[in-house]
Amino acid sequence: MSDVEALHDTILRWYDATARDLPWRVPAEQWPWPEVDRPWAVLVSEVMLQQTPVARVEPVWRCWMQLWPTPAALAAASPGDAVREWGRLGYPRRALRLHAAATAITEGHDGVIPANVQQLQALPGIGSYTAAAVGAFAFGIRATVVDVNVRRVEARLVTGAEHPAPSLSAAETRLAESLLPVADEDAARWNVAVMELGALVCKAASPDCGKCPVVDGCAWVLAGRPEHDGPRRKVQKWHGTDRQVRGKLLAVLRGATGPVPRADLDIVWHDPGQRDRCLSSLIEDGLVEALPRERFRLPA
Ligand code: SF4
Repeated sequence: MSDVEALHDTILRWYDATARDLPWRVPAEQWPWPEVDRPWAVLVSEVMLQQTPVARVEPVWRCWMQLWPTPAALAAASPGDAVREWGRLGYPRRALRLHAAATAITEGHDGVIPANVQQLQALPGIGSYTAAAVGAFAFGIRATVVDVNVRRVEARLVTGAEHPAPSLSAAETRLAESLLPVADEDAARWNVAVMELGALVCKAASPDCGKCPVVDGCAWVLAGRPEHDGPRRKVQKWHGTDRQVRGKLLAVLRGATGPVPRADLDIVWHDPGQRDRCLSSLIEDGLVEALPRERFRLPA
């Protein structure tokens, strides 16, 4: 067995023994919800999981699958319904992206999610990461899936760096491709296994190397855990940011049964300049509609 094959074997066995039981990971042959389109369920989970932890995603994902078990079901709803049911997941433009993708799948693919990474990537709002992830996890296609967890694990394990570069480099993509198992089924499991290792063990701030199945061969550990010497990593702030204010404005609109007068929005934030800027950006993003007489609602 080569070194890479041994690495595959170790991480895949660790994944089989340790992985979290997440509903969107149930394989096709055991899928327990016949009314829910499994590739759609995977696509929705992948979009929701971008920048949002599993614990926050799972209840919203379950709600979405009940309301909209197929792309056609979401396409028949309004974009505003998608934004309303997005709840407090954050980055709500993702709800609009999913609605646009559902509409394109319904109108351009007879409601069937294409089992082809290029066609997936051609859908509105679906980038290269999501297309590869849906290809791999919904259809078992051999695609390289490189998210932030995969990048961190491979940086430490192979490159010996504590953190990857701020944005994905060509060298990282080549490394991830070179590590991908040859067989389709192993490749799909490898992608999710490395993601899971990053999420549960090789965490950003505090890797739990004592529980890591590949600690003996980890380049970063063998090098004596050198400190990160690249650009300072950004810490996401929340309090006082436009993201917080946008969230507060949207919360009012999500809870309303009809158009909301400006006065009801004015009370959510003390700084009128920041509040107006955030409301304008929500309108520009298509998340809010401005109506005559200074009234606002989610998009119809
Ligand atoms: Fe990450 Fe530690 Fe495992 Fe290396 S040994 S891959 S740093 S958890």
